[in-house]
Amino acid sequence: MANLTIKEALKLASNSLLDSDSGELDSEVLLAHVVKKNRSYFRAWPDRTLSADDLHTFLQLIEQRQIGQPIAYLTGEREFWSRSFIVSPDVLIPRPDTELLIDIVQQKFTTNQSFSILDLGTGSGAIAITLALEFSNASVTAVDSSIKALAIANKNSRQLNANKVEFIHSVWFEQVPSKAFDIIISNPPYICQTDPHLLDGDVRFEPNSALVAMDGGLLDIKHITSNAHKYLKSDGVLLFEHGYQQGVQVKNLLESSGFKSTEQFQDIQGHTRATLGKKP
Ligand code: GLN
Repeated sequence: MANLTIKEALKLASNSLLDSDSGELDSEVLLAHVVKKNRSYFRAWPDRTLSADDLHTFLQLIEQRQIGQPIAYLTGEREFWSRSFIVSPDVLIPRPDTELLIDIVQQKFTTNQSFSILDLGTGSGAIAITLALEFSNASVTAVDSSIKALAIANKNSRQLNANKVEFIHSVWFEQVPSKAFDIIISNPPYICQTDPHLLDGDVRFEPNSALVAMDGGLLDIKHITSNAHKYLKSDGVLLFEHGYQQGVQVKNLLESSGFKSTEQFQDIQGHTRATLGKKP
């Protein structure tokens, strides 16, 4: 292909992404990733010619985007709580919704408090690492059943200087040392396998094991709830992210497993997306 300027390459790319409602933005984000510049650079230098290598790489990414590959997997990163996390198809892409969990922990604990946190199903490590960085005296343990996810989480903790997070390869509590934590936090898989949302957008490319749970999406939440007592101090907090239609069920599950003082929290759309209970 002939050499193209920035403006021409972006035009070509957004024309190939016409089916998407964010084709123009996606093209700019991907080109910024390839040429390692901010998007504002394109405004300043629209007539600069792209190198043949950059153009080739860019067009390959656009082809991937055309078949629906998430932007975060194509650039290899996603922002969470204002920090950039490495992501790959081995981990769920951190969601803005999940920042609600960080917000809740900030409501319950003060910045300098020393307390212990267990993050179940850490994936990219976004929750565990953010908590370790926001609460410098907290001790944080994070588990995942996927070795590949743990490799990504480890990279993130090194890159973000959250070296104190201890990562354990474990299916939920199986390999967690018997110790009582102040808080157990989890964004487990909670989507029902027949949910039509699974056929749309980024989730099609994300690991099923991080998204889908049997029993209408509740199996892992049930498993964690019924095993959490042994790993919590008295008054210790169990906190879940869950689906927007699962609030009543999760609250009932926590209460019927003996958790007290349950509280629920809404995301910015006003949906109940997180529930906590305390160990009596
Ligand atoms: N919030 C994610 C979604 O709706 C699901 C994450 C999860 O299952 N833990 O796509």
